[in-house]
Amino acid sequence: LSQGNRPIESALGDVTALDMSESNAPVVARLAPSPTGDLHLGHARSFLLAWWSCRRKHGRLLLRFEDLDSERAGQHWVSRTQEDLEWLGLDWDDCRLQSRGLPRITQAAMDLLAQGFAYPCVCSRGDIRSAASAPHGPTTLDVYPGTCRNKYRDLSDAEHRTGKQAGLRAVVSSRPVGLVDAVRGAYVERLDQTCGDFLILRRDKIPAYQLAVVVDDAADGVTEVVRGDDLLQSTPRQLWLFETLGLNPPAYYHVPLILNEAGKRLAKRDAAMSLRELRQLGVDPRAVVAWAARCSGISTPPRITAADALPQFDWSQLPPHPVRVTRSTLDDLLGIQT
Ligand SMILES: [Zn+2]
Repeated sequence: LSQGNRPIESALGDVTALDMSESNAPVVARLAPSPTGDLHLGHARSFLLAWWSCRRKHGRLLLRFEDLDSERAGQHWVSRTQEDLEWLGLDWDDCRLQSRGLPRITQAAMDLLAQGFAYPCVCSRGDIRSAASAPHGPTTLDVYPGTCRNKYRDLSDAEHRTGKQAGLRAVVSSRPVGLVDAVRGAYVERLDQTCGDFLILRRDKIPAYQLAVVVDDAADGVTEVVRGDDLLQSTPRQLWLFETLGLNPPAYYHVPLILNEAGKRLAKRDAAMSLRELRQLGVDPRAVVAWAARCSGISTPPRITAADALPQFDWSQLPPHPVRVTRSTLDDLLGIQT
């Protein structure tokens, strides 16, 4: 395991050389839940890892609610999430809603358009699907075929000429973009092959996740990001955005996922796993922390607080495999009541 990201152009040819050298700057980390449901054991484990990593380095921790998906997000979930995090024994130095920074995220999308790094796109998901099924269309559904490239001057030109709503897509090239993840090691993609020109502003004018997270992490001065390794594949797109916008990327720690009994990524709909429910059933939060600590390579008694486990936290001890939450995991937790 390496500490933080380092430039890897020497090892990997002409990979985008980002300045990810270590510095003595203070660590800034963030917990970034989306306020759309109750937290589950998977969140507990990844938020504890982020908290341990940050607090071990005496870093500053920001709680940022990713609430741009406004249809599902709500203040109700913000309060519940804060309560769940407090129940786990986590604290933070600052808290804000991502939507407060909406103007600067939208501005970044418009800047990319003005500089020729993005273009208007009027394609719906259905349009992209039918282009992909055409005889000479792209072979994968996930790669945008570039239908709208070089067609429209700006958003209003695209909307006026087509009568459709327009979003914005980033113009990617064949140049490899990659990183050295602190947990997963080197990871490189050619964006033209993995996703094509990707969406930065949706047709309803809500910034896409990729752009929002980059602009926010830069604005908040975030130096390290801890998150599930299902997001490793979106990191090259984010690095492309950091580089093109002239912003500094954080170090990345992509951690193995927590899976449900069926071996699928634990989801908010796995209601039996919600922290709220465990709490209502009388489970001791220190048992949840001890479980998360054990599956993070920390040996603990059956109950421990996040703060008491902190001195033992060490990234090099993180097990490399996913962790499965089964009925017996829950039975164990339910056996440890407050
Ligand atoms: Zn299009």
